Amino acid sequence: MFDLIKTIRPNIWKLKPYSCARDEFKGEASVYLDANENPYNTPFNRYPDPLQLKVKEAIKKVKGINVKNIFLGNGSDEAIDLVYRIFCEPKEDNVVAIAPTYGMYSVCANINNVEYRSVNLNDEFQFSADELLAKTDDKTRVIWLCSPNNPTGNALNSVETEKILKQFNGIVVIDEAYIDFSSQPSWSKRLKDFPNLIVLQTLSKAWASAGIRMGMAFASEAIIALFNKVKYPYNVNILTQKQAINILGDKSEVSLWIKTILDERGKMQKELQDLKIVEKIYPTDANFILVKVTDANKTYESLVKKGIIVRNRNTVILCDNCLRITIGTPEENETLIKELKKV
Ligand SMILES: *Cc1c(COP(=O)(O)O)cnc(C)c1O
Repeated sequence: MFDLIKTIRPNIWKLKPYSCARDEFKGEASVYLDANENPYNTPFNRYPDPLQLKVKEAIKKVKGINVKNIFLGNGSDEAIDLVYRIFCEPKEDNVVAIAPTYGMYSVCANINNVEYRSVNLNDEFQFSADELLAKTDDKTRVIWLCSPNNPTGNALNSVETEKILKQFNGIVVIDEAYIDFSSQPSWSKRLKDFPNLIVLQTLSKAWASAGIRMGMAFASEAIIALFNKVKYPYNVNILTQKQAINILGDKSEVSLWIKTILDERGKMQKELQDLKIVEKIYPTDANFILVKVTDANKTYESLVKKGIIVRNRNTVILCDNCLRITIGTPEENETLIKELKKV
């Protein structure tokens, strides 16, 4: 059975969090003299809402997730780092992940001095739950999954994922940065079934807001309370909170962007197929396509010379000679295909 208290670092369990002025008094008042703010330069003079309640209300409206099950951070990257700081004792505990996957899980493991164990995906970029579970021991606190996965693009098998959620007695993080481009349902609908589940999403991809830096974690109230205890008091600034509310209120426009990107993704898959240099186009549930070419370094360099930048994944495990191509505007995609025809 999953026991949250046994999964938390003892110092974090005992931690008494910093209490900021805005924690002590909540609500509306006419005179604020409690936080040593400057009374001039409204609205930038005021500290932001430490729990970002208005943004969370907007997320609840769009995603149907309760406010108490939402953590917001300075990008998903903040949530990834917090998972280590909350659950993993440096030099003692370990985590297990798939490979290849998003690089920040291993970077944050290294920063926090936590052992990172990885299991290679198979030829279809899928994993076996048993293989992942076999890599765990009594010091494994977290299993990292990413679906749709970066850089491969595919959604992970849901039967194997559910097996991990049921059989692993630690935290299971499922990073869904690309979920809005996928035909698969979000695991955030299953929070009640799995007390060990943390789902990560972000405004950086489908919501077209990478510049404002806002990531989301969805989990049980108990896990969210831990995130809130450990995070910096004012981790999301007022400009980001304001713009997040704006974009979350524009769902119909965002849906149109997503639809255009998915149409373009289909077109690009067809166009790429006809190119001589293309050896394989991997299936994708994301806003990018992983493509195996005859010589990735050469293709990458000739595109750079034309001012076109794709991601060269040649040195990534299982991605020999692969380029990761983000879907752009129809014009940008056409420019890329035109150049690829010449190389
Ligand atoms: C792009 C991406 C993110 C987004 O990170 P932010 O810090 O929210 O911008 C998270 N996870 C994966 C797998 C990604 O590819």
